[in-house]
Amino acid sequence: MKTVKRVIQIEVETERSVVVACRQSSTGWCGRCNLEIPFLPLAEVVALTRLEESELAQNHDLHLEIQSDGQVLVCLNSINKSLTN
Ligand SMILES: [Zn+2]
Repeated sequence: MKTVKRVIQIEVETERSVVVACRQSSTGWCGRCNLEIPFLPLAEVVALTRLEESELAQNHDLHLEIQSDGQVLVCLNSINKSLTN
């Protein structure tokens, strides 16, 4: 998983798009999407959505990836899919 500097645009609501300058976004392979896709740290998703971390962790529509250092990353595709409904 490589770490890159990039700006990621996330559609949180259909009428509103939020641009997140995410210094630590990582691109990795999501086995559930079957795609190479940006991942966001869970803390970024919490800040972005204002949902509780536990609520996000229990959302089975989100594709979570737990790193060896314990950091939880969330597949950007699943964020868009599960939070824009
Ligand atoms: Zn995914």
